[in-house]
Amino acid sequence: MIDTHCHVNFKDYDEDRDEVVERAKAKLIGFIDSGFGYESNIKSLKQSKEYEGFAYSTFGFHPVSSQNCTQKELDDVKEQVITHMDEIVAIGEVGMDFYYCTDKALRERQKEIFLEFVELADEYKKPLVIHGRDAEKKIFNMLEDYDDIPRVVFHCYGGSVKLARRIADKDEYYMSCSTQVCYSTAHQELFSKIPLERILTETDSPYLAMTKEERNEPANVALAVEKLAEIQNMDVSIIDETTEANAHHVFGI
Ligand SMILES: [Zn+2]
Repeated sequence: MIDTHCHVNFKDYDEDRDEVVERAKAKLIGFIDSGFGYESNIKSLKQSKEYEGFAYSTFGFHPVSSQNCTQKELDDVKEQVITHMDEIVAIGEVGMDFYYCTDKALRERQKEIFLEFVELADEYKKPLVIHGRDAEKKIFNMLEDYDDIPRVVFHCYGGSVKLARRIADKDEYYMSCSTQVCYSTAHQELFSKIPLERILTETDSPYLAMTKEERNEPANVALAVEKLAEIQNMDVSIIDETTEANAHHVFGI
């Protein structure tokens, strides 16, 4: 199994990163760490070299933390993505978050920033990892104009079943199921209806642990795989093999 979306580069793991990676190695074939912004991207890349062949990196600019950025900050991250294009496995996480952001002007800004990265993914033919909370449908429609993005991932998908069906109908579009599926009945219902060939697994560590107090970690992706087996009514080994194959394909690892 594989954790296709986590943030082990965060300072939450500065005290015991080696142990966290060791625990992940005992269960997983790897994890994909996503940068949030300039500094986080650097740390993520460094980490992928340190745990080479196990940790992979994607460079992003998180919608909520970047919505007030200056033009220079945006340009710097774009340049950083271009410079390291061959060392990262995808662009992300980038996107729009209309759950946390209700201000109209800021939502518009999030959209503008997101499109800059969509264009990079299209131009450089790089997979795109999307954070699309309460904006899934808008994002899906926006991507209609881009034909050269090789693979698209809706990380931590939480949109409607109806949209999930439309996403699953598109070639090379995937939805990632997080550890949230272990305790959220809404996510259980949702992921019981999504075809397994379109599902990736993730933890979004340090977020989305079993309890609010806990820090999540990549090894816990096993819990999501087990829950998926239960709700999809399949053997854990089938879920494991298929989601792993999906991840190999999406990220080219
Ligand atoms: Zn994330």
